Amino acid sequence: MNNISLKTGRAWIEVNVENLRHNVEILNRAMQPGCELMAVVKAQAYGHGAVLTASRLNKMGVRAFAVATVDEGITLREAGVCGEILILGYTQVSRASQLKEYDLMQTLISFEYAEALNHQGTAVKVHIKIDTGMHRLGIASEELSAVQKIFRMQNLKVCGMFTHLCCSDSRHPDDIAFTKGQIDNFYSMTDALRSCGIILPKLHIQSSYGLLNYPDLACDYVRAGIALYGVLSSPDDDTVLKPDLRPVFSLKSRVVLIRNVKAGESVGYGRRFIARRDTRIAILPVGYGDGFPGNLSDGKGSVLIRQSVVPVAGRICMDQLAVDITDTEGVSVGDIATLAGAEGYDKLSVPAVADRSGSISNELLCRMGARLPVIASDTVSQGSDETRPCCSFHKNSAVK
Ligand SMILES: *Cc1c(COP(=O)(O)O)cnc(C)c1O
Repeated sequence: MNNISLKTGRAWIEVNVENLRHNVEILNRAMQPGCELMAVVKAQAYGHGAVLTASRLNKMGVRAFAVATVDEGITLREAGVCGEILILGYTQVSRASQLKEYDLMQTLISFEYAEALNHQGTAVKVHIKIDTGMHRLGIASEELSAVQKIFRMQNLKVCGMFTHLCCSDSRHPDDIAFTKGQIDNFYSMTDALRSCGIILPKLHIQSSYGLLNYPDLACDYVRAGIALYGVLSSPDDDTVLKPDLRPVFSLKSRVVLIRNVKAGESVGYGRRFIARRDTRIAILPVGYGDGFPGNLSDGKGSVLIRQSVVPVAGRICMDQLAVDITDTEGVSVGDIATLAGAEGYDKLSVPAVADRSGSISNELLCRMGARLPVIASDTVSQGSDETRPCCSFHKNSAVK
């Protein structure tokens, strides 16, 4: 039995590699000259599979990545992903030797953190995070002398400096003014550093919506996540740039059982679906344990089978759900159902499904990254989807 048929027996995520490549090209064209794409592949690349996605991106020429945790960075290195890898979140200082060993760049989340990381004695690459108004991680943009001190710390090699915008997705005038203030604060800091004689490292500000709504910023990187995966966070979001991004993700499953239910009988937990007529039900072996939102139960969600959009019947369970196929001809066991990311069906796009479930695409996608296997569209025809590393990574032997 080949790899693909093993993975597509129950429920799986399909990654459209052509659309991913297309999005890389589109984003590269949307960025200012000299700016590089930093692909954000945290949380299993938003459910697309971190190793699969990053190694495909490597082959497409992407050379900079961002993850949330040190373990995500190590996983990529062990799979042979090359280029820069920036950890956006907190890492225990005691893991500094791993940062060096795996050539990972660590975000400095505060001045105290920088001191502690410097103090442990291993030389590590870092990006300084500047807090310009998000008030989550970072050193306040007024703390010029603290940032100057970091540039002098012996064990910290400052490779970058960045900030994060907290309402760049909004076109509301107040939010635009706030965002412009964040950008100004960041550049006041970098200008002040430059006039103190500090040679500035790589600078970056924009994530996906930062690029789509503030495309004129000339930075060294754009940290793109959701746009790289070809979707907006919410279906009705309006953006200044409207590039032709194409969705990469789809969630698919197979009909494993079809049953007839008589009028008056019920389906599933809590007897929430009561058949009003003689009804045909198809069972899909996928549920909220796979990250498909349970609050799409009782007809709120639907799936695509044989070009028909059919409603969820009753409660979505952890590992199964039922759909009402009474009005759809010819459904049989083994048929593929698409639950999210069905191209050409707006109602089943990732943003629409996320929105129906009271969430955003980013959350919906990464919830599905845990149990489901991921297959790449460019391997289906080959029958095998082994991901070969683009280049082999050698652990830094100096620290062993
Ligand atoms: C997750 C994240 C991103 C990517 O955000 P998208 O909106 O998905 O592009 C960029 N920067 C930081 C700091 C993040 O945490």
